[in-house]
Amino acid sequence: MADRIASIQCYVVDLKQESPYLGSLRDGEEVDDQGYFVRKQNGTVYPRHNRSLVVEIKTQAGVEGWGETYGIVAPRATAEIIKDLLTGFVLGCDPFEMQTVHDRLYDLMRVRGYHGGFYLDALAAIDIALWDIAGKIAGLPVHQLLGGKYREKIHGYVSGLPCDTLRERCDFALNWQERGFDAFKFAAPVADEGVVSEFRELRRALGDEAKIACDLHWTQTKASAVELARRISVHHPWFIEAPMPSEDVTGLQYVAHHSGQTIAVGEEWRTVFDARSRIDCGAVHIIQPEMGHTGITQFMRIGRYAEAHHLQVMPHATIGSGIFLAASLQASAALRNIVSHEFQHSLLQPFRHFTGNVLSCEAGFYSIPNSPGIGVEPSEAMKKKMTRI
Ligand code: MG
Repeated sequence: MADRIASIQCYVVDLKQESPYLGSLRDGEEVDDQGYFVRKQNGTVYPRHNRSLVVEIKTQAGVEGWGETYGIVAPRATAEIIKDLLTGFVLGCDPFEMQTVHDRLYDLMRVRGYHGGFYLDALAAIDIALWDIAGKIAGLPVHQLLGGKYREKIHGYVSGLPCDTLRERCDFALNWQERGFDAFKFAAPVADEGVVSEFRELRRALGDEAKIACDLHWTQTKASAVELARRISVHHPWFIEAPMPSEDVTGLQYVAHHSGQTIAVGEEWRTVFDARSRIDCGAVHIIQPEMGHTGITQFMRIGRYAEAHHLQVMPHATIGSGIFLAASLQASAALRNIVSHEFQHSLLQPFRHFTGNVLSCEAGFYSIPNSPGIGVEPSEAMKKKMTRI
């Protein structure tokens, strides 16, 4: 008889770090009583100290699966969705039915408009844990359950240059270049001297061959994005990311058609339906699914939809403990059209807290975990940072 899901536990993981995400606070950016601050340049809230939401699912036979979702903001909201609503529909399920479980849970709240946000984050965490369990029972890494891997390692690009001055950011990027990395992305909200200067100086420092991209953090209008694209074109951007507010699909389509630049988006999407509305109208050239939001099931649907449209996929890598990063590498190994994967160097240190495979990105390439399941599990040291909720 098939093994069945017996329990689900949620944990908030403390990922305290010296410097906030994207670097030190700028003038006028202050941490509030709840530990949040707002980046002035993009109006987006961040926690002073990173954290994540991890889910542990066990089967009746005692097989343990780990999932994780986006937990930097209000992680207890997502945990409550799992505890109050979803657990009752997952207990007793066959862990090999991860796709049908996902679709059943999705259907529960569809007509009420819950096809994104915290609800889909909760589904992502459960989905990753079920794939992990299925891999462990089968004795296979997830990329084999998904049909096999197309590559032995995955190109990684250095994301974020968390230094206070442009000179320091160039030196920082140079240091990574000397360690074997050939691709870089900076974030416009902390490019204090402006995107054009940042591109010019990074190009000067890193040379003609380096790939240099910019994340515009959804800050532009149609007119300003096209004008900015014209001004940076002389510095040969690799791609520009998220130029428009995320809900402005026609605006993004306009920029994709008129900027002359390669447009990358996708980190805020949860499902293939989010991808479809942008891909069908030609609003995007590079797809950036975020495993912490999509889970493996929707990540693969997005990736294969992109593949059917001959689009490149470059998965996003957000703040997490490493569990959904491992899942992202598993799924990326099994997608044909992956060209690179974001590498958040400032977040990799806590990932050392795993048993089994250690996640690594060295000399410009990620290794792909080969143990059964997603390939990583929290170590005892990591468990000390996890608070059960
Ligand atoms: Mg981004």
